[in-house]
Amino acid sequence: MNEVEWYAVAPPCSHEEFLAAVRVYARDAVTHHSLSVAVSDLEWSVSTRAKRRAGVLRYRDDTPLEIRLAWRLFENQGWHAVASTVRHELAHAHLVAEHGDASHGPRFQRLADRLNTATHCQRFTPPEWWVVCTDCEHRLPRYRESRLVRNPGEYACGRCGGRLTVHTAD
Ligand SMILES: [Zn+2]
Ligand SMILES: [Zn+2]
Repeated sequence: MNEVEWYAVAPPCSHEEFLAAVRVYARDAVTHHSLSVAVSDLEWSVSTRAKRRAGVLRYRDDTPLEIRLAWRLFENQGWHAVASTVRHELAHAHLVAEHGDASHGPRFQRLADRLNTATHCQRFTPPEWWVVCTDCEHRLPRYRESRLVRNPGEYACGRCGGRLTVHTAD
């Protein structure tokens, strides 16, 4: 399997570009780890609303239907975190298809270990603040009260030179 970086996309990119990279990565992960998952039969989607949950597998009976990934995870933590979440959700899909098992039980622990991903459902930390450009609406997540967060007026948008404001994350 290629290195995770090989597939990397970075914000800003469209949901379509993101999901295209995710599918290519997922297909290789499935082949490499011999998982019983048909990547192209799954629906892949982005949740722009999920605030803490990194990813979720939707399934009916023993059939995996959809893997949904949190857009904020990508924006806040980048491709590596997404790749790990994809492996986590693929592990769920495999065990649902093979054993009707959607738990984080012993089977999951073993498989997650092999796929080098988290053994519990992944949560991500939302930023405390967003620094937002009033001109181009570029958003930067901030986890600590830095000088930029305290005095946004001393800085300009790195993209367009516009004025920056700070919002507390909801
Ligand atoms: Zn899980
Ligand atoms: Zn700007």
